[in-house]
Amino acid sequence: MAKIIDGNALSKTIKAEIKAEIERDSLKVGLAVVLVGDDPASHVYVNYKKKDCAECGINSYEHILPESTSTDELLALIDKLNTDENVNGILIQQPLPRQIDVTTANARINPKKDVDAFHADNVGRVMLGEYHLAACTPAGVMEMLKREGLSVSGKECVVVGRSNIVGKPMAMLLLHEHGTVTICHSRTVNLKEVCRRADILIAAIGKPKFITGDYVKKGAVVIDVGINRGEGNKLYGDVDYENAEPLASYITPVPGGVGPMTRAMLMKNTLTAKRLQSL
Ligand code: NDP
Repeated sequence: MAKIIDGNALSKTIKAEIKAEIERDSLKVGLAVVLVGDDPASHVYVNYKKKDCAECGINSYEHILPESTSTDELLALIDKLNTDENVNGILIQQPLPRQIDVTTANARINPKKDVDAFHADNVGRVMLGEYHLAACTPAGVMEMLKREGLSVSGKECVVVGRSNIVGKPMAMLLLHEHGTVTICHSRTVNLKEVCRRADILIAAIGKPKFITGDYVKKGAVVIDVGINRGEGNKLYGDVDYENAEPLASYITPVPGGVGPMTRAMLMKNTLTAKRLQSL
């Protein structure tokens, strides 16, 4: 039977550590969350972030803009937040309405306040292995592995998915920890065979229950990044949990796995951003 990696418990510990550090050093830390439009899921996520901030002793500043907001209007707000001393981290909740140029918006954020680490400066630093801020989801996965005592060094790591926010930075972070990393995507030939080589298999695909037991080597660590909504709004991962679990040595559940770790890493990045701005 696989050991279930409890993302809820780990994230609670991390948030308590952040709170303790903020109190110990009497820091004033602030996160601005910008929400454009009426996407119901985004409103839920922003509320979670507010709650996380409160738990960590971080001030949260919410900016809700109408669905019709233009790129220029969003840029004007980003400019204001970039120079606001109370704001150490800026997060633009995505997805954004279609008329907004996401790349331009990401590029406008002061890299030292870029707690999502989507700015090209931070993406480049992650590539170089000389970074302070890394994308929250891959950073959360690395933290999970570390806190479970699972070494990456020398291991075959297979990442399924090559997005800029999950797959690519995930592969880089594993590489920096000396994993032997393969990145797969929709054009990968013999995906099952490639996945079955993995000591650490990371699914970031966006297809419910895609990774069945056929993709899993006996004893592999299986990390499910996927969040897919099914009937009745139920959440499904990219891994077919019941099918894969008997083969895995460690596995993350959905919900309660990578999701809460991503949120904890946003808090950690906000504290890191505060430190960076004080240098
Ligand atoms: P994207 O849609 O941006 O990327 C999906 C990737 O999966 C692409 O690289 C795509 O390949 C690949 N893919 C799609 N179909 C296949 C297939 N049949 N075989 C192999 N590869 C395939 O998604 P994201 O990276 O943004 O997110 C992935 C999942 O993670 C989603 O479920 C998302 O909701 C979830 N997520 C969870 C987070 C968390 O906190 N737990 C945070 C962020 C995302 P190609 O490039 O060739 O199209």
